[in-house]
Amino acid sequence: MNLFDKFAASASIQKQLESSGLDPTHVVIDQILSATEGIIDGKTTILAGTNNYLGLTFNDACIEAGCHALRHQGTGTTGSRMANGSFDGHVALERELADFYGTRHCMIFSTGYTANLGVLSALLEPGDAVLLDADAHASLYDGCRMSGADVYRFKHNDTASLDKRLRRLGERAQRCLIVTEGMYSILGDCAPLKKMVELKNKYGAYLFVDEAHSLGVFGETGRGVSQALGLDDEIDFIVGTFSKSLGATGGYCVSNHKQLDLFRYASRPYIFTASPSPSVIATTRAALRQLIKQPELRENLWKNAHQLYAGLNALNMHLGPDISPVVAVRMTDNESALAGWKKLIDQGVYTNMIVPPASPDGSSFLRCSVSAAHTPKQIEKIILAFSRING
Ligand code: PMP
Repeated sequence: MNLFDKFAASASIQKQLESSGLDPTHVVIDQILSATEGIIDGKTTILAGTNNYLGLTFNDACIEAGCHALRHQGTGTTGSRMANGSFDGHVALERELADFYGTRHCMIFSTGYTANLGVLSALLEPGDAVLLDADAHASLYDGCRMSGADVYRFKHNDTASLDKRLRRLGERAQRCLIVTEGMYSILGDCAPLKKMVELKNKYGAYLFVDEAHSLGVFGETGRGVSQALGLDDEIDFIVGTFSKSLGATGGYCVSNHKQLDLFRYASRPYIFTASPSPSVIATTRAALRQLIKQPELRENLWKNAHQLYAGLNALNMHLGPDISPVVAVRMTDNESALAGWKKLIDQGVYTNMIVPPASPDGSSFLRCSVSAAHTPKQIEKIILAFSRING
């Protein structure tokens, strides 16, 4: 055995993917034409798997803000805030996010991934307990693991399973964090937050919700599933990302717990990485303003979500349980997912191929995420392309 023998399995996956002609994990979008179209392999392609929920990546105000920041503040921060200091935009964005959520505290991170790592590893330590939804994102697993806390999984969205585990913890429930997502990223289903809040109150535990895919999508002002269910005040920590509805990169955590500010001294993924560059902060701030002042983006998004879900449902595709901007088609196995993905790309439709270990319950999916920027005609084309993948 040498160091590289363990890559034999990856090499065989790579070979299988390459044999399809175009490897879904190595797609190059040669040209980005808009929030919903690009050129792949010489062909104009509808981008139906971007997480660009509000379509803000080409918003004029966001682009202007980014260009202005580049000119006036340079290309990067070249270090972490703890070592190099904060730029005014970092502080302003934290204040604006706290105002948006109506919380007292906010902390931003360089990515959504490091936000989860940074919050979980600072909050938890060996001896603490985490109850983690089995289908939670890899960054939540990694953050829990990094903390050294005892991690117990409960069945996906199953509050009876959560209740059982909380009961088993006994007094330790008071040192327990329940970790869930708002809307789940693969099937677009939502956590039963109301019941989860009831349980956390019953046992004196704490609740952490990753709203990465729910920001800008759910709730009266777009704060996420917590807001849609009227539960914002009950959630101890809400984490989110700039990389989906806000069209940039970065992450954040908001909370009313004053200790969040102390995480700055304890969170290695906050301390030991460069802070977001000024242009990223500027476009994110502009996107947040658009999210707030253009509720019609959310309305369009949902119109498109309903159109896509209804169209694929009419084709008897095996879809997730809830209608949402994430619409995933369950395929019978990896091979049919790869063949289907290829037939879609051949017809000018880009989707996400999701196979184990990235998928829940070991299944394979062709996942679409719709955008407010898709036109009804584009959605029709996506549905038509799906109608041709079997056979
Ligand atoms: N949480 C969830 C639920 C996600 O789906 C993702 C990314 N897909 C992240 C966190 C990480 O976000 P980012 O890509 O901004 O690092």
